[in-house]
Amino acid sequence: MIQKPKGTRDFLPKESKKIRQTEQVFLKIAEQCGFKEMRFPMFEKTELFERGVGETTDVVRKEMFRVISAANLEKYKEGQYDLKKEGMTLRPEQTASIIRSFIENKMYADAQPTKVFSVGSNFRNERPQAGRFREFTQFDVEVFGSLEAFTDAEVIQVGWELIQQLGITQSTLYINSIGCPQCRPAFHQALKDFAKPKLEHMCPDCQDRYEKNPLRLLDCKVPEDQAAMQGHPQSIDYLCPACEQHFEQVKQALEIMEIPYTIDGQLVRGLDYYVRTVFEYKYEGLGSQNALGGGGRYDGLIASLGGPDLPGIGFGMGMDRLIIAQDLQTKQSEQTARSGIYLVPLGDEAKPQAIRVLDRLRKQGLVVEMEVMNRSMKSAFKYADKMNYRYIIIIGESELQSGSALLKDLQDSTQEQVAFNALEDYTWNR
Ligand code: AMP
Repeated sequence: MIQKPKGTRDFLPKESKKIRQTEQVFLKIAEQCGFKEMRFPMFEKTELFERGVGETTDVVRKEMFRVISAANLEKYKEGQYDLKKEGMTLRPEQTASIIRSFIENKMYADAQPTKVFSVGSNFRNERPQAGRFREFTQFDVEVFGSLEAFTDAEVIQVGWELIQQLGITQSTLYINSIGCPQCRPAFHQALKDFAKPKLEHMCPDCQDRYEKNPLRLLDCKVPEDQAAMQGHPQSIDYLCPACEQHFEQVKQALEIMEIPYTIDGQLVRGLDYYVRTVFEYKYEGLGSQNALGGGGRYDGLIASLGGPDLPGIGFGMGMDRLIIAQDLQTKQSEQTARSGIYLVPLGDEAKPQAIRVLDRLRKQGLVVEMEVMNRSMKSAFKYADKMNYRYIIIIGESELQSGSALLKDLQDSTQEQVAFNALEDYTWNR
């Protein structure tokens, strides 16, 4: 039997439905924020990714799937086909293709900004593991032409809103500013000064980064190198006044939109054309592959791919991880959702009335338990909390006198007096 390639997945009807629903959520948010959809080829000239993603990145150096037709393979074997010039590659990400299409279709001649999104498969020959696949889908959002700090915040908002609407509420947004070509040299120097005494014990990649792009010293995955860089200088301490103002405005817009963020000085996008704002969304429950998505501002990229000198900003959000995170979070909230009623009679006189209430509520199909261990009121509360009951009903002397029970909702932290004969008609959140 032939099996699917390693790192790929089949989506059966149930999963496909979930994918469709997730896409719908994304589409609605993107369109509401003024983004329009684009589609483009699944493969492009290899050169596009070499230039657009960066020749020194792992994606380009090790992970791209090149494609070649049978006829061209024959030509290649005969030395008649130039892989470097003519070679094609399955796209490992969408930004480069969107920019290529933006330039090729002269979209820059239209009124700016250009706000586009795309949804589709990307391919990377990474080592498969939980949350890391060789074919995965990204929701991609890009804005070209705007230098406004609000644009950065707006792009961040689209991703944040998507995560929230999918119910992945325990996620965190990390942001940083890595400055611009004006302020970056001072920061590079500070990083080099910091790393220099430790450099001989660091990995060969870091030694290379030290010379070529010190920012990427912060990207290293080797634990010893990460430890060596602990306490490193922070890019936000080296921003020029213009970058500092931009970052302040991004933060302010996020605050106005009530998007909580954490500044992460280690967050960098190592490519040369990234400037100012970089960001990442994480869901810790995902383990080592905990990034849901990430992006940043890349003001030099469009020009470097042969287009006009227009700024850009965007993100790529991993749909596969969003769905995994959503499932984990649903499971977790199901586990923590409170249910059932815990009845606490205070003293022997209250017991007959408590038994009456218990019996009537049970006959209605409600889950009700009564305190039988002679616990004090305080420890009865603790127990009810530990057992994840939603409600506590207390019946003591004063309740008997007033003819109503004290009802506490442990989920909403509210309480009220409910007449004994009204308990049966009470609207319980089961
Ligand atoms: P990147 O383009 O590397 O910045 O990735 C953006 C997002 O795409 C990540 O945060 C992941 O959610 C997702 N992603 C990247 N690579 C993979 C992969 N191999 N498998 C699944 N999701 C991925």
